[in-house]
Amino acid sequence: MPLESFIDVPADSHFPLENLPFGVFQPKGGNSRVGVAIGDLIVDLSILEGLGHFRSPEFQAHPVFSEDSLNSFLALGRPAWRKTREILQYLLSAETPTLRDDVRLREKAFHAQKDVTMKLPTRIGNYTDFYSSYHHAHNVGTMLRGPENALMPNWKWLPVAYHGRASSVVISGTDVRRPHGQIKPPDASAPAFGPTKSLDYELEMAFLIGPGNSLGEPVPIDRAIDHIFGFVLMNDWSARDIQAWEYQPLGPFLAKNFCTSISPWVVTLEALESFRKSLPSQDPEPLPYLRAKNDFTFDIHLEARLQTSSMDSSSVITRTNFQNLYWSIAQQLAHHTVNGCNLQPGDLLASGTISGSNEESRGCMLELTWRGANPLKLPNGETRKWLEDGDTLIITGWCEGDGYRIGFGEVSGKILSAG
Ligand code: MN
Repeated sequence: MPLESFIDVPADSHFPLENLPFGVFQPKGGNSRVGVAIGDLIVDLSILEGLGHFRSPEFQAHPVFSEDSLNSFLALGRPAWRKTREILQYLLSAETPTLRDDVRLREKAFHAQKDVTMKLPTRIGNYTDFYSSYHHAHNVGTMLRGPENALMPNWKWLPVAYHGRASSVVISGTDVRRPHGQIKPPDASAPAFGPTKSLDYELEMAFLIGPGNSLGEPVPIDRAIDHIFGFVLMNDWSARDIQAWEYQPLGPFLAKNFCTSISPWVVTLEALESFRKSLPSQDPEPLPYLRAKNDFTFDIHLEARLQTSSMDSSSVITRTNFQNLYWSIAQQLAHHTVNGCNLQPGDLLASGTISGSNEESRGCMLELTWRGANPLKLPNGETRKWLEDGDTLIITGWCEGDGYRIGFGEVSGKILSAG
């Protein structure tokens, strides 16, 4: 049975009382501050904090909700996150008069989502992108090396990743300028300089780090979850022709760091608890530092939709699920810190493209069109090998509960010409 709030939450809303995702928003004429989404509204936590609603021992640093990022709140850790959720579920419930019956307080404490500007949820100091979908790695490897050598020998032993660029992570709705770079077609003798001709999206999710670890002190896998606050949707925009020429021997660089988009609402691990699933079996068995007592993944439906400038509405081009990932978030975090690397509050750790076993579940154009060999056919008759100027790519995701949805909202971006 869905929980009941005095706030009207439409049945198909991503943000019922069971969800309560955190974000940073700026009301018209005001400063950025922390809020929580419910239905089509936002609760302004800086107002509730000012009234003393979060004065409990879990909040050592205080105040945290009038800041323009979640970093201070994330550093407090799970006891404070759980307490905040408990207080908000109480204050927003249909039974509690505090906000329900105080019209003047409601005017101050609630904003319509359509009236505010969403900001990046954290100051992202560091961004890492994993490569944890077996099917994505296998498809890409098959294109590059053939099916016999599709996976590199290390892939099933460690969660492969690269360090991305934190400064170019942008919030949903930010336009994406087509990047220039060096491009060398296979039959050319030298590279040319110009706008990418193979701009792509990557459907991903990413988690945000709560309390960090000290340099030199690895996080044991059974403590990894203590350091993870919640998830956002992510689009790792990629220029495949630039990538093909630059990536050896050190990995992605300019093909990836021109822009990475994330969704504004961070869905907490608490909200996702009922959607935990056991991790698929791993063969070979991972080394001991990657074996958790109770490892898990989540059942999260994910979609990518494309809308070209001549379409009236978007069309679904990818349908996949978070469960398609081979490595768990605990394994990713334990591996990231096993050499003593220090994570910090607000850091962004992404899954890699989430592809599944069938064609519809491929999470990027590279796989969907098999490097452009089989163009996508859109409902209005247009075709696409890669993203074109004026195209908008939208990623959305949700967990299906009994009578409610725990949703992630969306991350979208429109392609602008290279100019
Ligand atoms: Mn990626």
